[in-house]
Amino acid sequence: MIRYQRKSYLTAYIKKQKKLGKTIGFIPTMGALHQGHLSLIKAAKEECDIAVCSIFVNPTQFNNKEDLDKYPRFLEEDMDLLKTVNCDIVFTPSVATIYPKGKKGFEAPVKGHIVDTLEGFFRPGHFHGMMQVVSLLLDIIQPTHLYMGLKDYQQFAICSKMVANQGRAVEMRGMPIVREKNGLAMSSRNERLSEKGKAEAGIIFESLQWIKENIDQFNIDELEKQAKTKIESNPAFKVEYLSIVDQINLEKADKNLIVLCAVWLEGIRLIDNLLL
Ligand code: AMP
Repeated sequence: MIRYQRKSYLTAYIKKQKKLGKTIGFIPTMGALHQGHLSLIKAAKEECDIAVCSIFVNPTQFNNKEDLDKYPRFLEEDMDLLKTVNCDIVFTPSVATIYPKGKKGFEAPVKGHIVDTLEGFFRPGHFHGMMQVVSLLLDIIQPTHLYMGLKDYQQFAICSKMVANQGRAVEMRGMPIVREKNGLAMSSRNERLSEKGKAEAGIIFESLQWIKENIDQFNIDELEKQAKTKIESNPAFKVEYLSIVDQINLEKADKNLIVLCAVWLEGIRLIDNLLL
């Protein structure tokens, strides 16, 4: 595995590989890697000639300074994990490398409801920062395929629109959510949960599955209400949102549905979703 910290060397390497007709699978991450991230690298390795993973904790997508400061950083462990799945390239730029002209002045390529709803509503500016960094990384890496987890479903939906709006020649790949045995979606933030919290957090996926199983029994408002009550029956949990919407535009609808939620536990914000 080769590690690049500067973009000029990486760009030159990729240019050469693309000239040779090689396909490039790109996996953007913020590090603190787990099996969820590794599933994306494995998929890229299967489909593409070269897998490029970036590790960059992007300051512009954190709407909360404390969350940014507390975000786990384990570069050495991450590099070891990437080697176990034969990742070819890891890109670990500094903030100055990604934002040489400063962080201001980015015009969002996707606007409207899909950006402003759910995560966008509760984390104002988050998707603006996410689109900014993904755009800059795509400019540098110029991959043929972009791998993202459906764990961050809204991010995937927005990026799909973004690459289309920007006319980029990149194929989007949305990969299934990797979960713990009890159903908890793997996340770098789970590191900060207690063992008890991790065990109890299985109720989130259970409640989403309950919706899927009962989709024909109740109307949407009732499904949302009952699932929320189920999660909050344990007072350690607080549901920020739990919404059933359509899979493309994330609007209220009655077919092609997905349920998405954000739940607070032990001061940690957990997100999850399930296609219905
Ligand atoms: P992050 O490091 O949290 O920015 O995540 C980097 C990529 O890994 C994103 O595309 C995430 O959706 C994806 N990812 C994170 N957790 C999981 C998971 N449990 N299953 C599948 N993909 C995941």
